[in-house]
Amino acid sequence: MSAQLIDGKALAQEIRNGIGKDVEALVEKTGVRPGLAVVLVGDDPASAVYVRNKKKACDTAGLHVADYALASTTKQEDLLHLITQLNTDPKIHGILVQLPLPSHIDSQEVLNAVSPEKDADGFHPYNIGRLVEGNPLFVPCTPKGVIRMIESTGQAIEGKRAVVLGRSNIVGKPVAMLLMHRHATVTICHSRTKDLPGMCREADILVAAIGKAQFVKGDMVKSGAIVIDVGINRLDDGRLVGDVDFDQVKERAGWLSPVPGGVGPMTIAMLLANTVEAAQRVAQR
Ligand code: NDP
Repeated sequence: MSAQLIDGKALAQEIRNGIGKDVEALVEKTGVRPGLAVVLVGDDPASAVYVRNKKKACDTAGLHVADYALASTTKQEDLLHLITQLNTDPKIHGILVQLPLPSHIDSQEVLNAVSPEKDADGFHPYNIGRLVEGNPLFVPCTPKGVIRMIESTGQAIEGKRAVVLGRSNIVGKPVAMLLMHRHATVTICHSRTKDLPGMCREADILVAAIGKAQFVKGDMVKSGAIVIDVGINRLDDGRLVGDVDFDQVKERAGWLSPVPGGVGPMTIAMLLANTVEAAQRVAQR
């Protein structure tokens, strides 16, 4: 293997240890313990695992967690009512509504109902606007984690060619925006992009977030590039893989993040970081 591994699990652990210390310092100084409300609607097994991992990480770092597991038949108005209550609950500094929501619920309306000051996921249009301006209040967790992983290589982002595969609101677009604000020259590719492999080969920094197992092959990667694999895909044999063909790309890339053990743990660490930052803002008032 020529690429250096970007060990998201180890990096996330280091960040979470620091967050644990920040939490205790905040409690000691101000009496404010950062609190996260986790709202899960329905019984999607993958969502249940994500929520469990997020709650465990909060507990370990000393955050207060308020857990709301609602039936899949929950009415939209009842969910909105809960969010309104959480918006004014002084013990809660971050609100996480686990996606996807059941199809009878308008997800955008629910996300819009979360107070922008408690929007730990950074999905509220106000926070998206601030991100685009380059003056973010909350940076969405996965994109924030991706940037921390790139920064962990010690390589400059400024002036680099960056290619982001995927243009979703929760990953592709915010990652591209964050890279642009760090002065990379950014190309966003999607399902209608012509000559996507050619675009990828120009990238000094390549971020893959398309949800297609092992899509990025070795011959699509510039020698020495930083490659961040956001994808999470389950193969027929049960294995979890990313959007990058790890075995091929590790022979070309300079740095490469694995799946599992890459972006996933960083996303959780950034959720904790966002909640603690929100609590610090409240305590400063
Ligand atoms: P979406 O399905 O919302 O978006 C996928 C994007 O990829 C779209 O922009 C789509 O293009 C593009 N795309 C799909 N197929 C191709 C293709 N063959 N060639 C080029 N572009 C393509 O996904 P998300 O952004 O929500 O998630 C992406 C991946 O990241 C998933 O595997 C998801 O599980 C994972 N993920 C991981 C997280 C973590 O914490 N590790 C967090 C969030 C997501 P178009 O717009 O044209 O349709």
